[in-house]
Amino acid sequence: MQPRDLSDHSPYVPGRGVEEVARELGIDRSDLIKLSSNENPHGPSPAAIEAIREHAERVNVYPKSSHADLTDRIAEEWGVSPEQVWVSPGADGSIDYLSRAALEPDDRVLVPDPGFAYYAMSARYHHADVETYDLSIDDGFTQTAENVLSAYGGERIVYLTSPHNPSGSVIPLEAVETIADATAEETLVVVDEAYGEFADVDSAIPLVNDRDDVAVLRTFSKAYGLAGLRIGYSVVPEAWGEAYARVNTPFAASELACRAALAALEDPSHVEESVETARWAREYIDAELDADTFESAGNFVLARVGDGSAVAEAARERGVIIRDCTSFGLPGCVRISTGTREDTREAVKRLNEVLAELELEAEA
Ligand SMILES: *Cc1c(COP(=O)(O)O)cnc(C)c1O
Repeated sequence: MQPRDLSDHSPYVPGRGVEEVARELGIDRSDLIKLSSNENPHGPSPAAIEAIREHAERVNVYPKSSHADLTDRIAEEWGVSPEQVWVSPGADGSIDYLSRAALEPDDRVLVPDPGFAYYAMSARYHHADVETYDLSIDDGFTQTAENVLSAYGGERIVYLTSPHNPSGSVIPLEAVETIADATAEETLVVVDEAYGEFADVDSAIPLVNDRDDVAVLRTFSKAYGLAGLRIGYSVVPEAWGEAYARVNTPFAASELACRAALAALEDPSHVEESVETARWAREYIDAELDADTFESAGNFVLARVGDGSAVAEAARERGVIIRDCTSFGLPGCVRISTGTREDTREAVKRLNEVLAELELEAEA
């Protein structure tokens, strides 16, 4: 027998792992610079590592109190009620919870193109259809209310990504409000702030308290360096709070993930350092890379290089793993995550060699 017809469901293709590439090139993994998945080059907070060690011997029990503690802690951080905080396995888990809570079969969601693949994947799992609004490379992926609303046709969920992956552009809070005001009462505007810590703009979370049609996604995967643990959350309108118990996968956020996230929240200096490095590195890449780049508020920079797949491939042969953006519908671009200062400098040097070489080949 077979699974159901999944031909509409495109598989998620993750960036390549360090081990995999090192083995392929026959080099040591420490010689590789991996800037393809927007991970934190500083690693997790030492406090989070200690919390993981400390709680390792208690993983025989279900994560009940740690989950409640984390929910309370996040609620306190943002000045919302604990019911409004939906802790989940990564922000991806929250996307699923919102899909479960919002979508009936044949509902539609509106997502950015280019954009983060999981919005559409989750919608399709829940038997919904996907519409897109275009963000145009020609105006630097600028996000405006007018642009989103011109594509809006009564969708149940509208996804906004700020900072946007892969471009790094942000959407002003006034535009979020304009969109929420202009869309139907039954439309939930979801603002994905997976990279919110790196941006110089305010979070949309206070809007969630003022209105009943905006939700915000946040994660510990990026600025907090806990991608491998899978822990994130959404902040939802008051009236949605009660739905959590009906839609969440029981205990999907693990004991170690909850403990590490709690510890990470008590170590703001780690996040500050991570943000500072990312801000330095995105400016360095913008200034030093021999290609057009887009202004980014995240921990990555999108660059227009001509043939993204050829550049990513040649970079890989030089030990630098970056993201070819063909799968985002941007075959002319690569996305470069910000690394440590040392790795960023070295990566840009090698990437400039690659760009010069490919240009010579093109001229020959
Ligand atoms: C990384 C990312 C996420 C969430 O990742 P998780 O690891 O599931 O928390 C969400 N949205 C965007 C745009 C991302 O880039």
